[in-house]
Amino acid sequence: MHELSIVTNILDTIEENAISHNATIVHEIELEVGELAGVEFDALEFAMEHAPKSELLKNVKFNILKVKPIAKCQICQFEFETSEYASDCPKCKSFKTEIIKGNELKIKSFKMD
Ligand SMILES: [Zn+2]
Repeated sequence: MHELSIVTNILDTIEENAISHNATIVHEIELEVGELAGVEFDALEFAMEHAPKSELLKNVKFNILKVKPIAKCQICQFEFETSEYASDCPKCKSFKTEIIKGNELKIKSFKMD
């Protein structure tokens, strides 16, 4: 399950950061996850619950912010919401569109003490 390795990577990153800030506990991690990031949200939540966690992270809460995908037309520059990787421009019908938002998975912020 690749969601578990994603979560493990996130936890490693946060832990390194927490240690370098002399934190003793991490309370919350806020993630921005695009609907086209290629992850199953259910599997991601399951992985968050079940990933092995260190002392620092044992009570951490995850807050997932879903990001609606936005595509941009390269011909007329029109930006529109989409639910797929390849969609044609609703304005000029061009197929030259690219996803500019909604395929990311990133740590937005986290709270620690
Ligand atoms: Zn267009």
